[in-house]
Order: sequence, then structure tokens, then C-alpha cells
Amino acid sequence: MKNGFQNKLFDEQASGDAFTYAAEKSRDYIMGAVERRPFPDANGIEAARAMARPMPEKGVSASEAVRAMREGFEGACVNAIGGRYFGFVTGGVLPAAGAARVLSEAWDQNAPLFRTSPAAAIVEEICEGWLRDLLGLPQETVAGFVSGSSLAIYCGIAAARWRLLTRQGWDLNAQGLNRAPRLRIVSGRHAHGTVVKAVTLLGFGTDNVEWVDVDGNGCIRTELVPDLDDKTILLLQAGNVNGGGFDDFKTLCKKAKDASAWVHVDGAFGLWAAAAQDYRRLTDGMENASSWSCDAHKTLNTPYDCGIVFCRDAEAMRSALHQQGSYLEIGAGRDGMFYTPELSRRARAFDVWAALMNLGREGVDDLVSLLCDRAAQFADEISAQGFELTARPCFNQIVFAAENDDETVRILRAVQEGGVCWAAGADWFGRRVIRVSVCSWATTAEDVTRSVTAFANARGRPSV
Ligand SMILES: *Cc1c(COP(=O)(O)O)cnc(C)c1O
Repeated sequence: MKNGFQNKLFDEQASGDAFTYAAEKSRDYIMGAVERRPFPDANGIEAARAMARPMPEKGVSASEAVRAMREGFEGACVNAIGGRYFGFVTGGVLPAAGAARVLSEAWDQNAPLFRTSPAAAIVEEICEGWLRDLLGLPQETVAGFVSGSSLAIYCGIAAARWRLLTRQGWDLNAQGLNRAPRLRIVSGRHAHGTVVKAVTLLGFGTDNVEWVDVDGNGCIRTELVPDLDDKTILLLQAGNVNGGGFDDFKTLCKKAKDASAWVHVDGAFGLWAAAAQDYRRLTDGMENASSWSCDAHKTLNTPYDCGIVFCRDAEAMRSALHQQGSYLEIGAGRDGMFYTPELSRRARAFDVWAALMNLGREGVDDLVSLLCDRAAQFADEISAQGFELTARPCFNQIVFAAENDDETVRILRAVQEGGVCWAAGADWFGRRVIRVSVCSWATTAEDVTRSVTAFANARGRPSV
């Protein structure tokens, strides 16, 4: 009985049938991405819902399980790797990065320690160095590879909290937050929701944030930033999630540096501007910040999920994220767990390595420029169709609206259901807007024109 069970698994491993099937179907899926609808239709979603059945008492073969998964769920997948998905800030996938992911999933490396995976430790170290140079960050900067900017921001602010409290003579890890010296948080009003989440998770509380008003692109108004001091964490952003705006790093990082305040830069998609000649000026001065965060799964077009935290203060990062265990053999090489909150973690730096290897410095510049060029084209064409741009187009983000909120919402719904392209909505300075984020290498000039036409058509047919 027990042996029968194990033999079945050995047979499945030896035949490799499930893997052959998965590889073939992955390839078909990727190759069909250009023409597939960006958002699944009702039938696809219905089929996935129909998968909600009791868990079987007796299992099926590996191949059957994978086949059933594909047949049941593939039709309800969002196709963000085609060229006409503009929702949220969802990156496409470079073929090299996607394929690297398939291979590294087979390797199944666990990345906390050099001892748990020399390969993962070494590739993280290589990527750390490459990214530091690519983004123009200081030589002493260390990097942690996490699930996304949510956690990367959390890590940056955790390092800040440790450093600022240590400077006050307070041992955070031992003494905790009760009766700790008070720290200040200064942030623009349009900080991303994940920044707010990190601030709450770390125990600061939103009522204690000194919120600063922002301009029409969501940038912090530099002249309104209060005096800073060595107990202040200043939260800036490279790329507002709606308006695309970049804060004035030149002025604000200098001001913070002079006051010994800590600056964290949320650059989920916008930090990559630093790697493109024509957009680098947006990030001028950000090298004077203390920590930064970005997503490889956005602008760099690696698969989900991959965010990166950078910190110039290695001691603060390692202390804030410290953990021990007598069974953990530490120090054989780079131990990734000191730069992330997790112990066990997949080796997502392989995806980053493959993307950077595939693109080279020139290719990263080309990719960033491509996304921005297409966004600019979208902005030109959509305003030529009579839509109002509700912020100055910036980087890869545009926001626009019809004559009133009802029309904007109606048009957006119609386009979302039409299947040509997909974008999301947002509230922007009291108005309902449509937001377009160009985030896939696969978006062509024709995709943009086709998408704009879908909006124009939806506008021309008011509902009765
Ligand atoms: C997407 C985004 C985040 C959150 O990133 P996740 O990878 O989804 O955790 C934070 N800030 C900005 C500006 C973003 O665009």
C-alpha cells in the first residue's frame, strides 16, 4: 500500500509526462498571448468557478492534475503579457525571464542561506551588484529579494526605524516600541497604499504621519515639507501610481541628509527611470536617499512575484531583519535571509538575472523608453479623441476622463467588457478617471491605436 503510493510518484517523476505537458502548454500559452483577450470572458470565469468541487478522496495522476488545472483555470487568466493590458501597473514578461522562471521552478531552490542554495546566494549577490550600478545607487548598497514592493517598502522602513531608534540609544529589537523615543513620518498625501500599510504594520499609525499636499501629478509639494530632523523618516516616491509623478529628490534628499533624516524612495515602477538615459533626470538626487524599493515584476517585465529593497545602511537592514537558529549555518556566503523578512523563500533573483542578461544595459534603457513612448502616444491619441488628460502624462502612466464621472465609468465598463484592451479606474482629485499604465514590452504602436479606438467607440455609443 505505502510502497504503491511511493512507486506511483517515482513513476511520475521518471516519466516526466506532467512536465512535458506543462512545458508544451506553457509554450502554447505564451505564443498565443498577443492575440488573446486581455481579460477573460464570462465563459472562462464560469469554467473556473465550476472547479469548486469537493476535494477528491482518491487522487489523480500528475498529468491529469496538471491537465485539469489548465482546462479549468486557464480561461479565467488575465492576459497581462499581451500588448493591450493596461491595468494597475502590471508588467509583461520577457521571454528570457519567463523561461528562466520555468527552469528555476524545477530547481526549486530555497534562498535564505548560502547553505540552503549556493546558486541562489550567488545569483542574488550578482544581481545586487548589477542593479546597484544600473540604478546609480551608492556602492555600499545591499539588496533583498522579496515578493513585491509591499514588502520591499516594509523592509526599508523597518531598517529606518531600527537606525533612528539606535541613534537615540534605544535597542528596538530588545526593548520594543513601548515607550520608545517618538519617530516622525513625513509623507506625500498620495503615498501608495502599500506605504500606508507598511507604516501601520510597523506600528507608527496613520494619525502620526505628517501628510504633505501634492501637485497635479501626485508629487509632494517640496516647499510644504516641514523641517526634518534625525528622528524623521521621509517617504518619497519615484512614480505616482496614477499620475506618474516623481518627487523632487534633488532638493528633498539633500534637505533630509543635512538633517540626518532617513529617506525611503518607493520606486515600484519608476526607480527604473534611472536606467534610461532620457528619463534619468526624473531620479536626479535620489542616490542621496537611504533606502529604495522597486518591482522587477513591473517595469523590468520579470514574472510575478519579484520586488527588491535596496538599503545603503547594511547594518540597519541586517539588524532590523535579524533572526537566529542554532540549526541555521550562517556565514558560508551571502545569507539572503538578513535582507528579507522571510526564512524560506523562492530564488526569484534568477528571473532578474535572466532579464538583465537578456537585455543588457542598452536593453533596459530601450525597454523603459519603449513603455514611456507608448504611453506618450496613448496620451496624444486619446486627447485627440476628445478625452481630457487629468494629469500631465508622466513616465508610463496616463490618466484621462470623459465629460463627467458617469460617462467615464460607463465608457470604462464598456471597454473592459469589449475585450480589446483593459484598463482600470481610479479617483483622482475628486474625479473618476481611467488610468492607463503601459508596462509590457509587447505593447506595439498598433496596440495603442486599437485601444484608443476602443475608447472612442465606447464613447460614441451612449447607453439608453
Ligand atoms: C505597485 C506599487 C506598489 C506595490 O507593489 P507590489 O509589488 O504590488 O507590492 C507600491 N508603490 C507603487 C508606486 C506601486 O506602483
